[in-house]
Amino acid sequence: MLSDAFDRRFSYLRLSVTEVCNFRCDYCLPEGTDCGPESRADDLTLPEIRRLVAGFASLGMRKIRLTGGEPSLRRDLTDIIALCKSTPGIDTVAVTTNGYRLPKDIDAWHRAGLDALNVSIDSLDHARFQMITGHDSLQTILRGLDRAAELGMARIKVNSVLMKHYNEDSLDDFLELVRHRPFTLRLIELMQTGDNDAFFQRHHLSGDAVIQRLNQEGWQERLRERSAGPAREFWHPDYVGGIGVIMPYSKDFCASCNRLRVSSHGELFLCLFADQHQSLRHCLQTDDPEPLRVFLQTAIQGKAYSHHLHQQNPGATRHLAMIGG
Ligand code: SAM
Ligand code: SF4
Repeated sequence: MLSDAFDRRFSYLRLSVTEVCNFRCDYCLPEGTDCGPESRADDLTLPEIRRLVAGFASLGMRKIRLTGGEPSLRRDLTDIIALCKSTPGIDTVAVTTNGYRLPKDIDAWHRAGLDALNVSIDSLDHARFQMITGHDSLQTILRGLDRAAELGMARIKVNSVLMKHYNEDSLDDFLELVRHRPFTLRLIELMQTGDNDAFFQRHHLSGDAVIQRLNQEGWQERLRERSAGPAREFWHPDYVGGIGVIMPYSKDFCASCNRLRVSSHGELFLCLFADQHQSLRHCLQTDDPEPLRVFLQTAIQGKAYSHHLHQQNPGATRHLAMIGG
């Protein structure tokens, strides 16, 4: 299994399949996608993805999340899901999406073997949703979520970034969403990136403030194992769904890191906020997995213990659409 110099083990790959997005979320891509059609032309091909996934799986990767940009903009996303699912060793295939294609695509993704779905929704108020994303599609996305539940998908999460003076008053609406439905609400603390400095300074809301509110309302924290990933999980006897809080600024956040990332152009990101990325595309040109295995086993030794967000240093990450969060 892949492990680094700090004895962290990596069983989870987040693979971006395109950096293009059709939304313009204020904290991520306020001006929309800044890359042209040539960027799509350079995306990893299906055979390259097949070799990549097989190579990672042979080193102990068990879970793959397909992300972006907006992954559903790739016409072959269903084929990518099926390919990941049929790779020996992979037990979980997940997608993170803005959800705008959900009603059209979720049946096919489900048939292809999708195990887990994360849908990003930052407000349940239509006007505010449109203000944040530049799209009037909340209704469609909620319809898609319901369809995913109808299909019996057991692992559905709603990702939401709560921001000061912005949508922090949305928490009550989100709690209602999980009162009767078995979804997990994933509250993500806003992270600083190269492009969102001014927005971050104005709107960053500490996860501690969110947890304080949850505690006041009777939510209780679950004990977690070290390998469980970075979210702090909460439950409440009156709610069917649960809550996870992602707090990248908290002490020891990186100690439980279990993930690696690859961009849609085949760059390995050892950390979401690394200074440098390494291309592994040259290892994906033949079916021999050995060059990729050697590359990964060497590269992982250079993984730093922690990000440098506390020093206001997001590394080379201009926005999370570059790599998928
Ligand atoms: N387009 C898809 C979506 O929105 O779900 C996948 C890519 S998006 C980059 C993945 C996740 O990152 C979303 O849940 C989004 O809200 C989150 N995200 C983007 N920028 C962020 C930031 N600066 N801080 C915290 N979360 C962010
Ligand atoms: Fe697009 Fe997702 Fe970024 Fe919003 S958060 S702009 S949907 S990549």
